Amino acid sequence: MRVLITGAGGFLGSHLCEKFLKEGHEVIGLDNFLTGTPENIAHLFGNPNFTFFKYDVTNFIFLKGKLDLILHFACPASPVDYLRHPIHTMKVDSLGTLHTLGLAKLKKARYVLASTSEVYGNPQVHPQPETYWGHVNPIGPRSVYDEAKRFSEALSMAYHREHGIDVRIARIFNTYGPRMRMNDGRVIPNFIYQALNNQPITVHGDGSQTRSFCYVDDLIEGIYKLATQEGLEGEVFNLGNPEEYTILELAQLIIELSGSSSKIVFKERPEDDPDRRRPDITKAKEILGWEPKVSVREGLKRTIEWFREKISRA
Ligand code: UDP
Repeated sequence: MRVLITGAGGFLGSHLCEKFLKEGHEVIGLDNFLTGTPENIAHLFGNPNFTFFKYDVTNFIFLKGKLDLILHFACPASPVDYLRHPIHTMKVDSLGTLHTLGLAKLKKARYVLASTSEVYGNPQVHPQPETYWGHVNPIGPRSVYDEAKRFSEALSMAYHREHGIDVRIARIFNTYGPRMRMNDGRVIPNFIYQALNNQPITVHGDGSQTRSFCYVDDLIEGIYKLATQEGLEGEVFNLGNPEEYTILELAQLIIELSGSSSKIVFKERPEDDPDRRRPDITKAKEILGWEPKVSVREGLKRTIEWFREKISRA
């Protein structure tokens, strides 16, 4: 297949480029490096099956030649990033989604949208199945991401219904692993960076809020299945690891696994920070035959080693 990946320089985008190249496909990557980095894909530049354009997908996209699949993964995904770039985040998920869907229509390509567990907001149903409509504050600070992704989902479904585009939506739950930026702001890179530097671990609130953490290799496998299996037009899937931790437990685990002498400090909780989050992945298990294989302990060990090495090289 000839595959277009937006957000190719990002955490998930760069792993996806690698995966599709490894499976023998031709990959075209786009990124404006707002939150991604060239370092994530530098090792792919010599590969004859990989082409890259530094490009902002909020602009009109034109591409020569056939295209079989579009993976729209461009978007700041860390709360710190999208609160720093609120309007651009909304543009990527409106104009960027519109342009990539328009391209899918022109090229008759399959389309995979990177959506998010944030579409469920601060959920009142636990764990969250795909059939849950969510509980989102439309004017809160996080709405720039939550509502933008909800719009992206709605627009993708409109293209599916009106133009018959083969659209598939991945609702991605918290994912972590190598290539997250050290200053990404999300909880795992933050805690690992703090632990490795023996700095205080900043737990928001009392740390009783929960998240469920998926190792990146598992997630990429799930996206690959979602993108390549036949007969999934107009379907939405939760992809994530149902292993649920409180943020305080996560802090303690990272201190233990990194052998750190860091102490935990409690900071103010961000506005509208969801209290609980865990995917119901029954649908992905049954239809994609997918479930995560890497435990949180094992995934954290690998991620800590990657960060340790990166810090020692810096
Ligand atoms: N969090 C924390 N300390 C940090 C960063 C994040 O306690 O230094 C908390 C945050 O308030 C949230 C959870 O960790 O409850 C996950 O936050 P993250 O930014 O990773 O992403 P989210 O799941 O909220 O999108």
